[in-house]
This record gives sequence, structure tokens and C-alpha cells, in this order.
Amino acid sequence: MTHPALETTAPPAARDAAAIWWSARVKDAGFASTDDFEKAHALPRYRFAQIYRAATKDLSDSFDRISVLPTELRATLSKTLSLSSVKLEREATSKDGQTTKFLFALVDGKEIEAVLMRHAGGRTTACISSQAGCALKCDFCATGQGGFFRHMSALEIFDQAVFVARRARSENLPLTNLVFMGMGEPFLNYDAVMDAVALLNHGEGFNLGARHITISTAGVVPGIERFSREGVQINLAISLHAPDDEMRTKLMPINKKWPIATLMKAVRGYVAATNRKVFYEYLMLAGVNDRIEDAKQLADLLGGPLHHVNLIPYNATDAPFSRSQPATMRRFQEVLRMRGVPSTIRHTMGDDIAAACGQLRVETQPKTISAAAPV
Ligand code: SF4
Repeated sequence: MTHPALETTAPPAARDAAAIWWSARVKDAGFASTDDFEKAHALPRYRFAQIYRAATKDLSDSFDRISVLPTELRATLSKTLSLSSVKLEREATSKDGQTTKFLFALVDGKEIEAVLMRHAGGRTTACISSQAGCALKCDFCATGQGGFFRHMSALEIFDQAVFVARRARSENLPLTNLVFMGMGEPFLNYDAVMDAVALLNHGEGFNLGARHITISTAGVVPGIERFSREGVQINLAISLHAPDDEMRTKLMPINKKWPIATLMKAVRGYVAATNRKVFYEYLMLAGVNDRIEDAKQLADLLGGPLHHVNLIPYNATDAPFSRSQPATMRRFQEVLRMRGVPSTIRHTMGDDIAAACGQLRVETQPKTISAAAPV
């Protein structure tokens, strides 16, 4: 059975970013619709465009800073409308200054995380969440160990990116890339994620190019199939982490539902439909998935064009894993190279600030497993 989140079919191109933004904003402020908000404030239509632009393009965080609005209107709107649905609770920056992790509270108190990574050469990446918690229970992941709480709205997802971009801009850095690799499985919150993508990508607003956005999935096959039909230039990453079903099921229980052969069939369908490269995330776990045989098996699995493997050093959580040695990672990479599989060994970023997915939240909250776990 298809997951309910995957049943609708509107492509991102058909998603009106400004309408999504306004409709969610006014609802958060207690209005049934944008029309009701417009009437209550006797707001001319052109003001909507000005406010949307100020908040999403200029990244204004307060009406006081939107100088195009009359002073009186700024004061009125400040009392009724918030320009962010996420509230910063805590942040931590790594000693090397490259990585800052943010813990946000949503309106109902649920906590989610986002990360700003500053790369050499002025490139920056925001890593954002799509769900509060996650139902998929990957063995190596602090978020998975904490359980699922709820889906995030498109606006909540987008507002994290705005916050991170604002921080980058305060340091004279542009936000150049964005990855859905924080808390949650994006394809189990499909429509909200694609609405957020429409907001991120909107030329008259946030204006982050589609090719600079990556959605990472743990392998939700109906989501990959639907994504194949979207007609967008957004990158797809698959969290693979193991070359065979036995190992992958141990690490990622979702593999029971969509085993590797089913997953790879969906990925090949995506490549055939889009002619776009797929990225595979492979967390290197010492003595678990980092042997030469694993590299050979991985290379066999990925035969064919348009793939790239990211070998990722493991950031320790409470889980009983440790990071592969650098020499082991290099040897693994060499085996892939000899078999024609391109790969990159990722730099570790933010070890000293618990930068792996879900770790900051786990540090501040007791572990709670919710009853709802919609997989
Ligand atoms: S790794 Fe991703 S999919 Fe797996 S439990 Fe963590 S958040 Fe969920």
C-alpha cells in the first residue's frame, strides 16, 4: 500500500511558493485564509508581495526592518504575524568554526535541528530536518533512537533554511547548498518537503537553485518513484550504508520493507527517467561495513552510469559503532575506484558539537518513543 504522504501528484512547478508561504503564515496567526487576513488588516495586495519578498529574499526577521512598509503597518503586523515558525533554543559551533548546529523549538515545543557548514572557498551548506523525530530507527542514528513525533509543515522546514541563510549572511557568506539530511525521512513527508522545495527554489523569493538542493532518502521506494516524475533538477541521495540485505536490515530496518533489489530498481528507474546522477551515502562503520569485500560488493551493486558514492566518517552516538580508520576508508575508496565507481571521502565536520543527525536534541531531551510511527 502506498504511504498516504505519497498519494497526491502536484509537481513543484505547480506549487505557488508565495501562496504556500502566506497561507501557512496567516493560519499560524489564527486566520482561516489569506483573504480573511487581508480583510482584517485592510491590506492592499501589493503589500503581500512586498512582505513575502522582504522575508524570503531579503531574509528580514522582523517587520521593524521592512522599511518599505509604513511605520504604523509595521507595528500592527508585528503584533499579529510572526516571520518565523522556528525558535532558536540552543546552538553550538565546532572549535574549528566550520560547523554550527542549531536546536529549534517548533510552536508545540517539539525540537528539531539544522546545521550550517562553512566549507573552504566560501561555499556553505544548510542541513535541515523534515520531521520532528524519525520512525525509521536506523541503528546508528540518534534521531532514529529517539522515535517519531510528527511531520513538519512546509513553512517549518523552510523557516530553518531562512534562519541558517540569515546566519550565513551575517557572516558575509551566501548560502550555496542545502541538503535534506537532518532529522526525519523526507519522502515520508513528501508534499510538505516539495512545498518547501518550491519555497527554496522560488526566483522571486529565496532563490536557491534546484541543482544546489539535495534530498536524501533512507530508501522509501514509492517516494523515489514519485520523485522520478517531478521533472525537477534537485539532487537525489540514497542512504545506502551497506552492500547486502542482511547487513542493511540490521543497520536500517526500512530495508525489510524495501530491500536492496527493490531499492536499486527504483533508483535505476529514476536515472532512466531523469538522466541525473544519484549520490549514495555510505557511513563507514569500523569492522561492520568497511571491509574490502564490502567495497567489492558495493561496486557490483552500483554497476551502470550516473552514480557517486560519498564515504562518510561516522560521528559517534550512543550506538555501539566506531569510525573506520582513515587508511581503511582510503583502501575502500581505492577498491571502488578500481571498479569504476567514483567516490568522495567526506571531511568530518562538527565532531565536537554532536553534529550527527539528532544528537543535539538527544542531549537536551529524554528519549521518548511516540505511538505513531507511519512508515
Ligand atoms: S538516519 Fe535518517 S532515516 Fe534513519 S533514523 Fe536517522 S533520521 Fe531517520
